Amino acid sequence: MGMHDYIDNITAYCPQCGKKLTENFQTKDFKDPFLNHYKPGDTVPEDRETYSYIDTYSICQNCRLLVNIGLVVEDNVLTDKFC
Ligand SMILES: [Zn+2]
Repeated sequence: MGMHDYIDNITAYCPQCGKKLTENFQTKDFKDPFLNHYKPGDTVPEDRETYSYIDTYSICQNCRLLVNIGLVVEDNVLTDKFC
């Protein structure tokens, strides 16, 4: 119910104001999200062979824009590439 996981160590900038996003990115894409922390280089917690990316989101602390970023998954490993 409204649970999510965190994706750490993502460097991205707000498309609206250009400030670096400092809030942790979150995702609801993993099965049974439970506030776990993942970062690029981690293996995703289930077989995601049928997926090539996960949806992540963060809120800009400067202008409050909700920023959505698709993060590429390669061979079940999270990358720091955007799609
Ligand atoms: Zn912003």
